[in-house]
Amino acid sequence: MAESTAGIESLGDLKGKRVLVRSDLNVPLDGTTITDDGRIRASVPTIRQLSEAGARVVVTAHLGRPKGEPDPQYSLEPVSARLSELLGRPVAFATDTVGASASETVAGLQDGDVALLENVRFNDGETSKDDEVRGAFADQLAQLADAFVSDGFGVVHRKQASVYDVALRLPSAMGGLVAAEVDVLRRLTEEPERPYVVVLGGSKVSDKLGVIDNLIDKADKLLIGGGMVFTFLKAQGHEVGKSLLEADQLDTCTRYLREAADRGVEIVLPTDVVVDTAFPSDDREPQPSVVPASEIPADALGLDIGPESAAAFAAALADARTVFWNGPMGVFETDAFAGGTRAVAEALTKVDGLSVVGGGDSAAAVRQLGFDEAAFGHISTGGGASLEFLEGKELPGIAVLERG
Ligand code: ADP
Ligand code: MG
Repeated sequence: MAESTAGIESLGDLKGKRVLVRSDLNVPLDGTTITDDGRIRASVPTIRQLSEAGARVVVTAHLGRPKGEPDPQYSLEPVSARLSELLGRPVAFATDTVGASASETVAGLQDGDVALLENVRFNDGETSKDDEVRGAFADQLAQLADAFVSDGFGVVHRKQASVYDVALRLPSAMGGLVAAEVDVLRRLTEEPERPYVVVLGGSKVSDKLGVIDNLIDKADKLLIGGGMVFTFLKAQGHEVGKSLLEADQLDTCTRYLREAADRGVEIVLPTDVVVDTAFPSDDREPQPSVVPASEIPADALGLDIGPESAAAFAAALADARTVFWNGPMGVFETDAFAGGTRAVAEALTKVDGLSVVGGGDSAAAVRQLGFDEAAFGHISTGGGASLEFLEGKELPGIAVLERG
């Protein structure tokens, strides 16, 4: 990708112009209560920058996975209120995305005002695989604005109307959030400072295979925890009881272990595991116990890396100059299984160099466990997008802005 992607300044004088901003406001909700507003906070600087430049700012975003039609449980209205608090100015909320409410709301904006359109995924054109259907919806979105700013890093890997097609229809630029993300991810893939340590966890191996594939010859060490580790342990010949296992990935894991050995990349797997006989649930007290990774009982499932492994992972990170971490080490949502994730997060805060946290749940874990976000070099807002970037894939929402 070119280094020369134009930022907001390339759009010229924005005073009085209607600027459509694609933000990532996809926050976790409990009813209408926002449980983690990180993505809203991350979106504020670009929105504020545009407002201060005198633009009439029209924010578009999605929430959850509605099925292409309005669904009240996925309304962005609670997000609108929080965005307004964080911006310190009113946010006009349109109850549709491209309908009468959106037109009226945008028409009512003064210079510097901010509006938020209702969930863009209430429209089936947004995520349609049919270029014409998507394009027709993008035409409607484009009519609401004079320029487009792409600032939703969490969606730039999607070829969707509000990410991709609308950029073909309006003068477009990259927002500061996306620009910062791309800059950091480039530093992870192009000549990273060494030692370069990659920590992977989370629930599914199959989600992360591409990253392992692409980073196995770039990283010096690969630390593996989380639910994905059990497929690796099994590939090494250990029994994993009722732990998460992706049997169809065993051969791939075996191949990675061999490849890493051939290339002198150190793969560090846990030597001990915190197990329980059931997955954490509201109606049962957790009964954690620590067992060697090679002796997981048949009736147990691994829910975190053990304390010995947590210390070993922290030690492996101690002299790193570049770290990328994606995926919690355990079921951190339950305190009894948060120790490994806490230890890795703690170790990242001490890294003398670039430490990057990627992945929605990993970023949420860092905040939930009470870490100061400023202690990390960078916390990526886009899990899938950062993984696809590190897999070496082209991101449609970036490529469309770099088309020259
Ligand atoms: P991210 O969003 O950071 O990319 P993932 O979505 O891949 O991370 O994985 C996060 C989830 O993985 C968390 O909800 C966590 O509870 C779960 N997880 C971590 N370790 C385990 C485990 N041993 N067994 C089951 N689930 C796990
Ligand atoms: Mg996740």
